[in-house]
Amino acid sequence: MAGFLMAFSLLSIKKLNKSFRHEQKALTVLDGINLDIEQGEFISIVGSSGCGKSTLLRLIAGLDQDYQGEILLNQAPIQGTDLKRGLIFQEHRLLPWLSVSENIHLALEETHLSRTEKSQRVQEHIDIVGLQGFENAYPHELSGGMAQRVAIARGLVNKPDILLLDEPFGALDAMTRSHLQAELQRIWQHEKITMILVTHDIEEAVYLGDRVVVMSARPGKIKQVIRIPIEHPRSRSSEQLFHIRNQTLSQLDQLI
Ligand code: ADP
Ligand code: MG
Repeated sequence: MAGFLMAFSLLSIKKLNKSFRHEQKALTVLDGINLDIEQGEFISIVGSSGCGKSTLLRLIAGLDQDYQGEILLNQAPIQGTDLKRGLIFQEHRLLPWLSVSENIHLALEETHLSRTEKSQRVQEHIDIVGLQGFENAYPHELSGGMAQRVAIARGLVNKPDILLLDEPFGALDAMTRSHLQAELQRIWQHEKITMILVTHDIEEAVYLGDRVVVMSARPGKIKQVIRIPIEHPRSRSSEQLFHIRNQTLSQLDQLI
């Protein structure tokens, strides 16, 4: 039987405008954002501080519903937050009085899984982020990188369709950051989910992204979308990545 399928994007942002009221005036933060994201894509968003990246992620997460235009997920407007969209921030936001596994458990509170299923799910995600043996550790006993791994596990434990990451490695040292970037690539491939990563680290954006969305500031617009035509998994030391990275950097130099 011949199948008949209408192709549509997982996430479709159309003519998105967002403004905040500031001292009686409207401050336009996002202006005419159009972006289609496919199921399973890795999208990096770069742009200088204040250009509206976090605002855009919050809108996609459903944390803020005051905007003009459309944000469609599977063709339906986004309405409020949903376990199908996970969000990870620069700070881990773990509760200090709960252990690693309790912090991850907390994200499953609103699900209908049985107690055993929850425990299995938590353990599975502790394994995915490589924290076996630290189940009972408390946040203050973890390094910054480990705490961010817990945050990633917590973001993934509900098996979201989309994981939104707002500068997740911004506060980490260079070694840890580069290690966690490789880990994120592995996790993304393993989970086969869509990831949208906001970063101001251009190398990180190019290393991980299928496409790099470049934003300009005041008001935030999409300046360009650059496709990174390299298969995953990517090796940071590959010649091909080196070339594309240099190309992209010089392209960005002319853009910004
Ligand atoms: P980025 O994440 O790219 O650094 P943000 O999305 O945080 O930028 O902010 C974009 C702009 O919107 C900034 O000028 C910021 O001051 C303003 N802004 C963000 N949130 C609010 C808010 N709740 N009220 C007023 N202005 C805001
Ligand atoms: Mg931000």
